[in-house]
Amino acid sequence: MQHVTLNTGVQMPVLGFGVYQIPPEQTERAVTEALAAGYRLLDTAAAYGNEEAVGRAIKSSGIAREELFVTTKLWIQDAPAQDNTRRAFEASLSRLGLDHLDLYLIHQPFGDVYGQWRAMEELHRDGRAKAIGVANFYPDRLVDLIVNNEVTPAVNQIETHPFFQRADDQELMREHGVQIQSWGGFAEGRNDLFTQPLLSEIGAAYGKSVAQVVLRWLTQRGVVAIPKSVRAERMAENIDVFDFELTGEQMAAIATLDTGRSLFFDHRDPAMVRWLATRRVDHA
Ligand code: NAP
Repeated sequence: MQHVTLNTGVQMPVLGFGVYQIPPEQTERAVTEALAAGYRLLDTAAAYGNEEAVGRAIKSSGIAREELFVTTKLWIQDAPAQDNTRRAFEASLSRLGLDHLDLYLIHQPFGDVYGQWRAMEELHRDGRAKAIGVANFYPDRLVDLIVNNEVTPAVNQIETHPFFQRADDQELMREHGVQIQSWGGFAEGRNDLFTQPLLSEIGAAYGKSVAQVVLRWLTQRGVVAIPKSVRAERMAENIDVFDFELTGEQMAAIATLDTGRSLFFDHRDPAMVRWLATRRVDHA
């Protein structure tokens, strides 16, 4: 597995396994199969409600802790967020059965973000979170967070797939030393991604599936990917992307699929901000 080096010096696998929308009762099996398939980066969140099941799979795998890269996310916290964030962090760690995280992310750019970040800076200084970062931060909010705080986020996890490629955002992050990580790398199958003609044609040239072309395209761009699947054969397929390389011409052709717009929702849409900010998550 290839790795990227985060701005804290921590090494992160370029490809991992995401568990969003995997029901808790299926998560232990799915993560067990993902670990057996070779994944070492696991991406969960307090809001997914499946941290305990991820923790059980980690424990029963017998894989040494230092071989794993575990990410979880802090849900929106009211002010003053510093105490709430510490509590939420300890609750996540306890559910995961771990004594530290490799990466702790602010899940949404809402609520008392600065209070959350100050608490996360402390957790990072204490060595409890080897790296800290954010998710769903558009450039304006990301830069504001960077220039007004001591620790620069190591990662910004954002919607990134062939129909919303985020090249400008990636460049801005690169300038600030922030690693881009894709969520929804397959756009959750929207826009008929898995039968998209150009991606299918490129895949056929290598004997690879559309999913493999997408993951190769992401990782070749330096974007960390965390595909989700509940099926063992797809987990194996999705990690088998390091034995071929897309040409410059193919990368340029895929660039033409970009619509420059989210396929899900815009985190700057006031109605969505209101909906998300009022959503409370149990134990988060
Ligand atoms: P995704 O990875 O884009 O797509 C998952 C979908 O693709 C599932 O329906 C899965 O079905 C299917 N799939 C997987 N591999 C396939 C293959 N080889 N061929 C055909 N279909 C395949 O969606 P996502 O789960 O939303 O995003 C990935 C991860 O990003 C999440 O799990 C989560 O960890 C993270 N995320 C973060 C945020 C955030 O706000 N920070 C938001 C969303 C997601 P099966 O399961 O049936 O195989």
